[in-house]
Amino acid sequence: MNDPLTRLPGQPHIARRDGVLCVENVALDALARAHGTPLFVYSKQWMLDALAAYQRGFEGRNALICYAMKANSSLGVLRVFAEAGCGFDIVSGGELGRVLAVGADPAKVIFSGVGKTRAEMKQALAAGIGCFNVESEAELEVLNEVALAAGQRARISIRINPNVDPKTHPYISTGLKGNKFGVAHDRTVAAYQHAARLPGLDVVGIDCHIGSQITEASPYLDAMDKILDLVEAIEATGIRLHHIDFGGGLGIDYNGDTPPAADALWKQLLARIDARGFGDRQLMIEPGRSLVGNAGVCVSEVLYTKPGDDKNFCIIDAAMNDLPRPAMYQAFQQIVPLQPRMGTAALYDVVGPICESGDWIGRDRALDVQAGDLVAVLSAGAYCMSMASNYNTRGRAAEVLVNGGQATLIRRRETLDDQLRSEQLAG
Ligand SMILES: *Cc1c(COP(=O)(O)O)cnc(C)c1O
Repeated sequence: MNDPLTRLPGQPHIARRDGVLCVENVALDALARAHGTPLFVYSKQWMLDALAAYQRGFEGRNALICYAMKANSSLGVLRVFAEAGCGFDIVSGGELGRVLAVGADPAKVIFSGVGKTRAEMKQALAAGIGCFNVESEAELEVLNEVALAAGQRARISIRINPNVDPKTHPYISTGLKGNKFGVAHDRTVAAYQHAARLPGLDVVGIDCHIGSQITEASPYLDAMDKILDLVEAIEATGIRLHHIDFGGGLGIDYNGDTPPAADALWKQLLARIDARGFGDRQLMIEPGRSLVGNAGVCVSEVLYTKPGDDKNFCIIDAAMNDLPRPAMYQAFQQIVPLQPRMGTAALYDVVGPICESGDWIGRDRALDVQAGDLVAVLSAGAYCMSMASNYNTRGRAAEVLVNGGQATLIRRRETLDDQLRSEQLAG
């Protein structure tokens, strides 16, 4: 039998034992019975191992790994990274609230995003975050005003757009000229000179983030060369940059993808930094997907199979509101039965119950399934739960964190009452 799990080197913490699919030492069918479906299950060990690869890469360096929490912002997940000493890359005041709720050190928080509001800036200054990653000249002015009004100086870095092609899906490319992110390469030095003159700002670093699900080293190496060119040009004007923040974006193995290992990639990048004489600067990175993506699966029940002339449909109880990546990016995630049958597989489009043709989870998948079977959608740790919605008035799924043989419910299933609570009738 062709068991797809044997082809998934990126997911060593998911395995079949006695025919049952397990995350670490916990059987997924038992979790589904206890908590219902759809159910997200995460391996703590996978997260810590992914983090360790970066930590090995930075051994002996002054480095700070800031988990880009938009990938998965559940408190139980944040706590894992806070306890491991990570900082956090946030993109909203709400995310700051979550970081503070798990007791993380605000000094290790960096604030990215093109549309920070004055209220969010105020909140972040009051919390004492480490750095604002400013994305435009206009934002420099507003942050300067907000900081002066608060009687503070805001530590800033300017996000530069290095104009390199990360060779990924257009919706997750962020470092090309046509993207909304960062300050254009040729305006960077002037922007830094201007920032250095603003009394409410304290210029401390430089940053970039070129895209997501990057599976080759070359775009990173190109971006690093461009960043280091700019560090030289900026410092030639007398501004000292204490840190270089290189963003996130490293890909994971969804379907035989072969991204470079974090430690091997950083070995190459650090060689460039050292060769240019900037090895003494603090290094920061903002990985999201590569710290959580393959830690998670989404367990779902097959509700119906529906044969058709053109296609067979396998209708499961997870949908685009739980797993938005296929609908948003035509993304591929493996779908595996929890307990394989011994019959013959048919080709199915695996879809959810939502009333949209865009509500599909996998296309043309060879599966041997019947109603009532459980399946696991793999690689569901990043950009699934954090993007989940209530579309079709579906409550958001429950989440479980597994640590060895122990399973902890870190989010209960959302109820209808939860959804209706903030609404009221007119008049
Ligand atoms: C989304 C994002 C990241 C993380 O990207 P991943 O591909 O998940 O590693 C890092 N930095 C910024 C500014 C981002 O917007």
